[in-house]
Amino acid sequence: MNMTVLNAPAPAPARDPLDGLFDGLFRPMDADGVYARTGHYEAVVEALQSLISRQREDGTEIFRFPPVMSRRHLETHGYLKSFPNLLGCVSCLEGSEAEIRAAADRHAAGGDWTASLETADLVLTPAACYPVYPIAAARGAVPAEGYRFDVACDCFRREPSRDLDRLQSFRMREYVCVGSPEQIQAFRERWIVKATALADRLGLAYEVVQASDPFFGRVGQMMAMSQLEQALKFELLVPLRGEAAGTACMSFNYHREHFGTTWNLRDAAGEPAHTGCVAFGIDRLAVALFATHGLDTAAWPAGVREALAP
Ligand code: ATP
Ligand code: ZN
Ligand code: MG
Repeated sequence: MNMTVLNAPAPAPARDPLDGLFDGLFRPMDADGVYARTGHYEAVVEALQSLISRQREDGTEIFRFPPVMSRRHLETHGYLKSFPNLLGCVSCLEGSEAEIRAAADRHAAGGDWTASLETADLVLTPAACYPVYPIAAARGAVPAEGYRFDVACDCFRREPSRDLDRLQSFRMREYVCVGSPEQIQAFRERWIVKATALADRLGLAYEVVQASDPFFGRVGQMMAMSQLEQALKFELLVPLRGEAAGTACMSFNYHREHFGTTWNLRDAAGEPAHTGCVAFGIDRLAVALFATHGLDTAAWPAGVREALAP
């Protein structure tokens, strides 16, 4: 019997060390950073969410936000100054049936239907805590004990990448505090301790470092420098690629009076409230767990499985 040996191409070298996890956790959806999540992956995501819920402090109010929010609210937030490059805005076909039909039919004729899109009053929510400040402000003066919120949202950021730790659509969970500068500082210090204890229980290596937001452009670089000078942001970085710098899986943010002034969120004396938040990158934490402990969750260290048990 004659056998023809096909000239099989050599397997492509792994592009990124995390690529080996993809097939075990996700399915492609025709866009970088937008993936279908398998049940295997979601089981870990759900376990993580409930572990974080168990850390919730007393007196914390819960909100779950939809993946879209008011465009006007996001404009008020100053997002266009800080991160215009990351924003996704909803656009729709508006008008009469005839106008919508004509636009849609252009597609069938091989033309460009998107030329008829009109910008809607909605944007894709880029961070889980943004919608909570106008809700708090609508209640009037902030009580002396302040507010605590537990919020979550499917977030969108236009930063397409093939790296599994940089998605365009990802889950963010946050605890938010509104109150006096002292209350926010204490909140943040408490949460850095709680969050590092959480990372310990999850068997993750990490370091907590001072950080800045990826503000847009040259003016943004100055904003980032001032943020560093004032130590307004810390991140918990988990090394996912050996020696390389870690990936931010949580962040601890002090906004000073920024949102207080923006939303007229004031204490009884009329002073702008201060705010802060601790953000958990749920998908990054899940990917970090698989990168650290492997695809087979049954083989994860007993302590980690215990922490994630219901
Ligand atoms: P990075 O420094 O990696 O760009 P960031 O500083 O912009 O992240 P934050 O705005 O602090 O991130 O968002 C809170 C958390 O949300 C981050 O700590 C991270 O865990 C998660 N996160 C942010 N961007 C992404 C993304 N593109 N994909 C997955 N998770 C993300
Ligand atoms: Zn936040
Ligand atoms: Mg960052």
